[in-house]
Amino acid sequence: MNNFVFENKTRVIFGKDSEKSVGSETLKYSNKVLLHYGGGSIKKTGLYDRVVKSLKEENIEIFELGGVLPNPRVDLVREGIELCRKEDIGFILAVGGGSVIDSAKAIGIGYFYDGDVWDIYDYKVSVDKMLPLGVVLTIPAAGSETSPGSVITNVDKELKRGFGALCMRPVFSILNPELTFTLPDYQTACGISDMFAHVMERYFVPTKNVDLTDRLCEATMKTIINQAYNILKNPMDYNARAEIMYCGTVAHNDSLDPGRGGDWASHEMEHEVSAVTDVAHGAGLSIIFPAWIKYVYKENMDKFIQFFTRVFNIEQDFENPENTVLRGISTLESFYKDLKLPIRLSEIDFDSSRVDELAKKASFDSSRTLGAFKVLNKDDIKEIYKLAL
Ligand code: NAP
Ligand code: FE
Repeated sequence: MNNFVFENKTRVIFGKDSEKSVGSETLKYSNKVLLHYGGGSIKKTGLYDRVVKSLKEENIEIFELGGVLPNPRVDLVREGIELCRKEDIGFILAVGGGSVIDSAKAIGIGYFYDGDVWDIYDYKVSVDKMLPLGVVLTIPAAGSETSPGSVITNVDKELKRGFGALCMRPVFSILNPELTFTLPDYQTACGISDMFAHVMERYFVPTKNVDLTDRLCEATMKTIINQAYNILKNPMDYNARAEIMYCGTVAHNDSLDPGRGGDWASHEMEHEVSAVTDVAHGAGLSIIFPAWIKYVYKENMDKFIQFFTRVFNIEQDFENPENTVLRGISTLESFYKDLKLPIRLSEIDFDSSRVDELAKKASFDSSRTLGAFKVLNKDDIKEIYKLAL
C-alpha cells in the first residue's frame, strides 16, 4: 500500500425531502446565490419551485443561470463568471447532475482568475480558491457532488478537458433518491456506467497489497450491478435508487483509492470521443472500457481473473485462465447491453477515419502517456480506439 492523505470536506445530506434544507444550508455561506441549472428538467419536476421557496424562506437573493448542456460548455461558464462578479455573488448552488455541478465549479474557480477560464482547463495555471458551492443532485453518475474535479467542453477547439483541485469539492451536497425517479432510462443507464467506470479506474492499478480497497471496490461494483437490475425491473424502487445514488458518491469521493491511486486512461480516451460526437459520458465509457480491457488484460491476468470471478461470479477456468477473462469481457458487455448502452463506436455517430486524430489529441500530440495499469502511448491509444470500432 502506498502512503496517502485522505480528506473529503463535503457534507452529504441524504434522503427523502432532504432538499428542504437547501435554504438553511446555503445561508451559512451567503445571502446572495447563483442558482445554476440545466435544460429545464428541474422545472418540469417541480424541484426548481421547491428550491426557490426554501431559499426565499431564508431571504436569500437569487440570481439565475440555467441552460447548462450535457457536456457543459466553457461559453456559459464565462457568462456565469461575469454575472457573479457584476452582482458580487457569494455562493453558487448547482441543481442538477455532473454537467451542472462541473459548470458551477468552473465558474467558482474562474471567478478568482483574471485571465480566460479555459487557461485553467488547458493546464496553464493552477487554482487554490473557489466560490463556495452547494449541490442538489438529480442524477447519480459523475460523482461530482463530492469530487474535486470538473470536466468542461470547448466546442471551438473540439476539446473536453478535466481539471481538479482540492478546493473544488462542494461544501454540501443534498441527495434525495426520489429526485431520480423522473430520470429517462437512458440517463439512469449512463449514470450507472459512469459510476461503475469510476470504480474500475481505481481497481485496475499496478499497486500491490491493497486487499481492503480491492474488496471495497468489489463490494461497490457488485452493488451497482445488483441494484441496476432492480431499477431495470422497477424504476420506482426507492431502495434501489437510494443504493445507486450512494454508490455514485462512494465511487468518486476518493474513499476507494487511498494507498492505490487510479488508472484513468479510459476516462481520458472517452473525453475525446465525447468532444467530437457529444455522446453522453457513460455511453462513451461502455464503448471504451471493454476495448481497454481487451488491450491491457495480459499485463496482469490474475487481476482480471479476480475481478471477473469476484464481481461477475464468472466460474474460473483453471486449465485455461485466459478463458475466464474472455468470458468475463462478454459478460461485462452483456451488462452494458442489458442497460441498452452502446459497446462499439459504430453504434454512435462516430467517423472511423478520425481514430488517428483522437489518439493524437488524447496523447497531447505524443507528449504524454495515459494510464498506470499499462502505460499507453499514442500508438497504444490508437489500437484501443480501433478495438472499440
Ligand atoms: P448530466 O449531463 O448532468 O445530465 C444528463 C441529462 O439528464 C440532462 O439532459 C439532464 O437534464 C437530465 N437529468 C438530470 N437529472 C434529471 C432528473 N432527475 N430527471 C430528468 N432528467 C434529468 O449527467 P451526468 O452524467 O451527471 O454528468 C455528465 C458530465 O459529468 C459529463 O460532462 C462528464 O464528463 C462529467 N463527469 C464529471 C466528473 C467529475 O468528477 N466532475 C466525473 C465523471 C464525469 P437537464 O439538463 O434538463 O437537467
Ligand atoms: Fe466519469
